[in-house]
Amino acid sequence: MKELTCIVCPRGCRLTIDDELNVTGNFCPRGAQYAKDELTNPKRMITSFVRVKNRKDTVCSVKTSCSVPKGKIFDVMNEIAKVGVDAPTHIGDVVIKDVLGTGADIIITKNID
Ligand code: SF4
Repeated sequence: MKELTCIVCPRGCRLTIDDELNVTGNFCPRGAQYAKDELTNPKRMITSFVRVKNRKDTVCSVKTSCSVPKGKIFDVMNEIAKVGVDAPTHIGDVVIKDVLGTGADIIITKNID
């Protein structure tokens, strides 16, 4: 038996998962899926920054387009640290496509003129 708090939405349901991965306490199906994923293949969104090469002392915020396995977070952060972008930047621009084969793109989250 395991207990988790669902972090998919602000309601924060308390979930209980038995040894057969049966989930109770979830208000909606997303909580059951979250609990199963958390126990079998936990994933997280990543937010970070990349250098803006053509602006002095400037960085631009980025994030993954979807969650990536927790075990790959540091490898993905290392890939993000290797790249830079040129301004202007636009929200949604892809900096790295399918980073490390995770299926997630690294995308810009800030407009810089
Ligand atoms: S189970 Fe559904 S309603 Fe409850 S916190 Fe998770 S996503 Fe929100």
